[in-house]
Amino acid sequence: MSKLEIKDLRVSVETEDGPKEILKGVTLTIDSGQVHAIMGPNGSGKSTLAYSIAGHPKYDITGGSVTLDGQDVLSMTVDERARAGLFLAMQYPVEVPGVSVANFLRTAKTAVDGEAPKLRTWVKDVNAAMVQAGLDPTFSQRNVNEGFSGGEKKRHEIAQLELLDPKVAVLDETDSGLDIDALKVVSDGVNRFAEDDDKAVLLITHYTRILRYIKPDFVHVFVAGRIADEGGAELADQLEAEGYDKYVRAAV
Ligand code: ADP
Ligand code: MG
Ligand code: MG
Repeated sequence: MSKLEIKDLRVSVETEDGPKEILKGVTLTIDSGQVHAIMGPNGSGKSTLAYSIAGHPKYDITGGSVTLDGQDVLSMTVDERARAGLFLAMQYPVEVPGVSVANFLRTAKTAVDGEAPKLRTWVKDVNAAMVQAGLDPTFSQRNVNEGFSGGEKKRHEIAQLELLDPKVAVLDETDSGLDIDALKVVSDGVNRFAEDDDKAVLLITHYTRILRYIKPDFVHVFVAGRIADEGGAELADQLEAEGYDKYVRAAV
């Protein structure tokens, strides 16, 4: 069993006018066996939360803590975070010129396990993950994110989730660019992962559409760098019907 604990997290970014506080004290506990959804309007700091957990250098942690099973995540390198069992899929993964999907996945798996996977089983596992994610096996010969469609990026993300087998998956989702088939593949992949009671998911999303396919146990409403409301799956339905207006008005 594992536990991701975010306590009073404060994060700033450097701007031309000096530091700007984006996260203003975020507290959230995610236990294995649970799917948490973070929903909120554009610019509310959702991606900042994901990037901060991931260790992106652009974000200054000015207060609070993030721990995984009691271990200080914020003092870990990006590789150490992966080895500790965190999977962090970013909304706009960068192109990695000249690196094939196959090599990228193998490097990632080696980083997570601390040793290179055995070649024979690995090739089989990669092909199986490609099929699960609805990708042609030749996909693994392409360069990472080079000319990937929105759907292919997400399918690749699901293949990574499948292969790296983390404890906690933090997924910064945009379902805006996904056609219905890709949305289904992503949802099925996340649901397959979340079925295991040892796994936990933090799903960050702007739209409620994906939550028709992934039923969260908890929903957190994110507004202006804070959690403005929390509830169960019914809160997502309420947001779909009413939008974020009342929270945004209360926050100003
Ligand atoms: P979300 O993912 O919820 O749409 P983000 O975490 O991407 O929100 O952004 C949160 C806020 O941080 C936004 O208001 C954005 O404009 C601001 N922000 C992020 N980076 C910078 C920066 N370098 N300079 C100024 N503001 C920034
Ligand atoms: Mg479960
Ligand atoms: Mg975002």
